[in-house]
Amino acid sequence: MYFPPLIRLGSYNINPFAIGLLDSWLAVQRQAVLSNLSPIRFSDQSDIDVELAIDMFSLSAQQDIGVLKAIYKCICPNCDGQNGKYNALSSLPKQDIICRYCGYNYSPNQRLDYVEIVFERCLEPSESVTSTRERDKFSNSGVINLGNAESLRVQDIIDKPNKARRHLLNNLDSRYEAAQ
Ligand SMILES: [Zn+2]
Repeated sequence: MYFPPLIRLGSYNINPFAIGLLDSWLAVQRQAVLSNLSPIRFSDQSDIDVELAIDMFSLSAQQDIGVLKAIYKCICPNCDGQNGKYNALSSLPKQDIICRYCGYNYSPNQRLDYVEIVFERCLEPSESVTSTRERDKFSNSGVINLGNAESLRVQDIIDKPNKARRHLLNNLDSRYEAAQ
C-alpha cells in the first residue's frame, strides 16, 4: 500500500476493494491538488458510491488514521469567491465578513451551505508510483479539474450526519445537535 494507515479503515467496515482504490487514487494525485482533494471527485473517478467516499475521506482524516486533513473554505454566497480557509470549523470568523471579491457582507457561520470541505493529503506515498497502471484505474485522472465539480459543503454533512463524519463537525454549536 502507498498509505498503510488506510488499512485501519477496515475496522470501520470499509471493504478492502474500496480501501485499495482510495489508496491508489491518493497516490496518483498531482502535486497541485494535494490540498484540495474532494471525495466527490474520487467518487466520480472510481465509481465508489459518493456517500461511502465521504465516509472514507472523513475517517481518513481522523487522528487514528491521519492520512488526510480536513480544510474548511468560506465561499461567498454572492459570487462564489473564496474568503479564507481554516483547519477547524470552530476557527471560522464569528462576525460578518466582507467578500474580498464582490463586497458582499455575510456571516460564514450562518451560511454553512457555503462552507466547503476539502481534504489535504498529509503523507507521501510509502513507495513511488512508477506505473501508469495505477493512473489508468481512474477515469479523467490527469485531466485538469477547473473546480466546477460539485463540492462538499458543511451543510451536506449536517443534513446526513453519521458516526464516520461526526468529527468533521467538532466544535460546531448546537445546530448540529439539533440536526440529529
Ligand atoms: Zn463575493
